Amino acid sequence: MHIRQRAHWLAVPAALTLVLGAATASALAPSTAAATSQAEAYDLVIERGHVIDPKNHVDAVRDVAVNGGKIAKVAKDIDSSAAKQTVDAAGAYLTPGLIDLHAHLFPGPEDDYANGKNGVSPDGFTFRSGVTTAVDAGSSGAANFELFKKNIIDRSQTRVLAFLNIVGKGMGGAKVEQDVSDMKPGPAAEKAAEHPDTVVGIKTAHYEGKDWAAVDNAVEAGDKADLPVMVDFGANHPERPIEQLLGEKLRPGDIYSHVYSGLRNELLDSGKLNSGLHKGRERGVLFDVGHGGGSFSWDVAVEAMKEGFAPDTISTDLHITSMNAGMKDMPNIMGKFLTLGMPLKDVVEASTWKPAKAVGRADLGNLSVGAPADLAMFSLDKGKFGYVDSFGYRIDGSRKLTTQLTVRDGKVVWDLNGKSAKKWTPGAKPDTGEHEH
Ligand SMILES: [Zn+2]
Repeated sequence: MHIRQRAHWLAVPAALTLVLGAATASALAPSTAAATSQAEAYDLVIERGHVIDPKNHVDAVRDVAVNGGKIAKVAKDIDSSAAKQTVDAAGAYLTPGLIDLHAHLFPGPEDDYANGKNGVSPDGFTFRSGVTTAVDAGSSGAANFELFKKNIIDRSQTRVLAFLNIVGKGMGGAKVEQDVSDMKPGPAAEKAAEHPDTVVGIKTAHYEGKDWAAVDNAVEAGDKADLPVMVDFGANHPERPIEQLLGEKLRPGDIYSHVYSGLRNELLDSGKLNSGLHKGRERGVLFDVGHGGGSFSWDVAVEAMKEGFAPDTISTDLHITSMNAGMKDMPNIMGKFLTLGMPLKDVVEASTWKPAKAVGRADLGNLSVGAPADLAMFSLDKGKFGYVDSFGYRIDGSRKLTTQLTVRDGKVVWDLNGKSAKKWTPGAKPDTGEHEH
């Protein structure tokens, strides 16, 4: 299929191509390609970056070529002489575009997270953080998902996926989110089925009741729609302990977010991690960071890492408060886990391939040939960096990831240091746009 890019092939008269027919044409192609060994006219080649692609077990310096919005080739040395655009990534890390599994992306004129002031507009905050796919964590429910899709999802360059809130009106504030009569598994599952490319799960959050209504209804919707459930376990109640949630209620593949919050007995008075977390992991429950404004405590995270309890998925719980406090963005949280001793390739996997699998989107979060050309390039800077949790405590780290460049659908959408720009020289002519080959 790359043949169409070659100038000599394009020169074959259309009539002749028709006469020869498709079979003959493709039979001719390899010999002409071998005869000329002409460089491929890729749209973009990112050269000499240290590629970390956990799905394909790549952790080495590689060139990456992009064509038509897809990954075209990953190899030690790609001839970029005919490429439309090249980026020198020497000294930097190149990963699949990050997948933020927990964000709030439904801003609007209301008060809370559903069409509300706490949400953020995706493109303004994703690309600068290396994020190319963001999953909204239940800001909308069955009753207002269409508005979310029309106003935000369909108008964003960021790939926005969604967990549908079990509450029909979504995260419309404290009262709305406690309304058990609006937690209907049927309508939630039906709405999910209408949007199989976008709705990737069901969410329950912020429930303050002492019963299991929110969790049970979310899991029932998940069963009906054959989708995972993400849980923000709300208020802590001895009547519905976390051990029972992780040991009985949740199914393998369901996602426990805010795992390092400490707000629901994740850390025992003894200073040890609640054994329910270990048991949940044995059952196949996934554990998500969901840092947010109040859900990441060094007390819990440090002990968890000591006990080998690294997160399955790293995510922000992005909203107007968290982004301006200790959370900041994905690379900042990734830096926290580097500081706690998690290897870089595991940190990348928890931010790309694992979240892709968690939401049943194995087409994302990897650099396989043919995968969407979503990429992120980071410098790993050395120095002294302060990492702050949600409770105002700092740990100093010696490494920090900074997003240098982000590619979405084959196009550069963030470029901190102009790596993809042409160098200005005196008398430089204005660029006329597309170059012909
Ligand atoms: Zn959240």
